[in-house]
Order: sequence, then C-alpha cells, then structure tokens
Amino acid sequence: MSNALPILPSDASPSFYGMRRERLAEKLAVYGVPAYRADQIFSWVYQKHTRDAGEMMNLPAPLRRDLTSICDLALPAAAKVMRSADGDTHKFVLTLADGARVESVSMRSPKRMTFCVSSQVGCALKCSFCATGLMGLTRNLRAEEIVAQVVAMGDYLNWEDDRFNIVFMGMGEPLANLAAVSEAIHILHDDHGIGLGARRITVSTSGLVPQIHELAKLGLQVGLAVSLHATTDELRDQLVPVNKRWPIAELLDAAREYGHSVGRRTTLEYTLLGGVNDSMADADRLASFARALPSKVNIIPYNPVPGLPWKRPSPEAIEAFAQRLYPHAPAVTVRDTKGGEMWAACGQLGGLSPDA
Ligand code: SF4
Repeated sequence: MSNALPILPSDASPSFYGMRRERLAEKLAVYGVPAYRADQIFSWVYQKHTRDAGEMMNLPAPLRRDLTSICDLALPAAAKVMRSADGDTHKFVLTLADGARVESVSMRSPKRMTFCVSSQVGCALKCSFCATGLMGLTRNLRAEEIVAQVVAMGDYLNWEDDRFNIVFMGMGEPLANLAAVSEAIHILHDDHGIGLGARRITVSTSGLVPQIHELAKLGLQVGLAVSLHATTDELRDQLVPVNKRWPIAELLDAAREYGHSVGRRTTLEYTLLGGVNDSMADADRLASFARALPSKVNIIPYNPVPGLPWKRPSPEAIEAFAQRLYPHAPAVTVRDTKGGEMWAACGQLGGLSPDA
C-alpha cells in the first residue's frame, strides 16, 4: 500500500454492511489497495462469516490491522432473543447504533429457513390489527441496518442453513423506504458476498401503488406480496387505511403489472379475522381477485394482540374459508403461524411482546 491507512476511531467508520463491493474497492483504492482485496473481504465477511479483520489471513498485515478504520464490521447487539418451544422460530430484538430497536425473525421449516427483516423503526401506516402500527414511525432503517439483521441472525444460528429466503415483512412498510431496501437487496445479491438470488427475496407492501411501479422499474426481480386483508374497499379502508388513497382495484392493477414485468406470481396476504373478513362471500371475492392476476393466496389466521379487538377465527372457520377458496383460486396456502406464542408472527412485531 502506497498510502498509510487512516487511523480513525472505529465509530467514525461507515458500516461495512451498507457498502457495495464496488464502494469498498473505491475506498481501498485511495490507499493503493487493489480492487480484488474488496472481493476477498466480502468473501471473509459474508461467506466465511468472519467479523474480525485480524483473521482475514490472505490480506496483507497493514490492511488486516487498519480495515476497521475504513469500514466498521460491528453488528447490532441482540438485546433479546426469544426461541419458540419447538426451536424453529427465533425473534431477535436488535439495538441499533442510535439506541433504536428493531425486531427480526428467523423461521425454519422442513424446506427452508426464512429470515423476516424490518425496514423501519415503527410504521406510519397504522393498519388496525398490527402491533407495529400502534407504535407510529420513528425512522427509516439504512441499508446497512437491513443487511446487518440478516448477518446477525445467521451468526446467532451459526449459519446452519446455507440456503435461506428473505421476506421484508417485519416492522415497517418496505416500499416507504424503497431507497434503502433496494440498496440492501443489491448488497445481498452480490455473488462475492451472500449471493442471494432475487427469487429468494420477497418485498411485502400494504399497498403503496406508485412505489410498486417504482420497484418494477428498478428491475430487481424480487417477489411482491400484497397485504390485502379485505375484499371490499369499505372494510379495507378500516383495516388498512392506506386503501383510502389507493383502493383495491388500483392496487391489484399495480400488482398485475408488477407480476407481468418480473414474470412472477404476486402473493396476496390475507389475515383472517374472526367474524370480520372470513365470510364465504369474502372467500368468493378473494378467489376472483386471485384468478385475475398471476397470484397465490396466503391465508394467515390472526394472532391476537392485547389491546386490539380482533379475534382469531375458529379452526372450523379457517378450514371452511380455505376449502371455499381451494377450487377457485390458483394456489392457496394457510400459513403455519410460526412464533405466535412469543409474538413473533406477522403483525406482532413492535414493542408489545409479553415482557418487552
Ligand atoms: S401491517 Fe405493515 S404496513 Fe401495516 S402498520 Fe403494520 S408494519 Fe405498517
């Protein structure tokens, strides 16, 4: 290296997890370090899971010594990790540099591991059945805070699952923070790093129609999930207030266009609330929505949140709803509500955990 590397306190260094490999190479180039060193560092961090620059043995000693003054390899600390009784689900409460907390969830099924990540601290959209919505929005997450959730969960679980999916279904509306979400996706995609293919990433939205079009334009090819939850505008206006701005027909049009542009089916997420949206007429309308676009339907029996009035339907009502849909909708799954007993399931993230 021709130039000395900068000796800065490590809290002044930008986070490694928010840097594309090209950006890291640019920073290293300032000190005469060739670009292939950035490839090696990505491999150490994302493929060999090394968090200590001193252990990156194929780097020259000065770079090993001073890397943390160029980029910070620290991960957010886990303030709490809760494990489900069967051990398949973990809910992580992570403390960010400014003290804000986000929640992330890992869910293992026989087929795959799924990491559910947050995109915001809180959420502004106030869906009426959602614990996160009760918090209001504190701030958007930065790309590094999104990527770091994945790395922190993988580290905790010792990277036992080398194949995993990522769903942006934690705290927050991902499309309200599209710049950071798309940047994080670019970093997660990098073949020298995690190498996560677009088919293994799903972004969920409560219905921000202009941002669905923007996501299509970005060409990231990720899956889209739409949190539908109602089959009439009258009910959806109450459950998902953003519906007043972009009603169901507009939302489904945007989802159809998105699906065609990326060649993937949109997932219609439907939280089943006892006595509210679980009638046979709802099932029939939902089936007709599902048939009108390349889609699959995911029914999520509601997980009760204290302080909110909604109820989970009876097992019979869940079964009847699903049976009514099956012959008429292209693909239907009833989500196994993993983590419900520790409030790690959909709509339950956000500071309302039993002992939070
Ligand atoms: S369901 Fe999603 S969009 Fe709605 S309030 Fe909760 S976190 Fe926000």
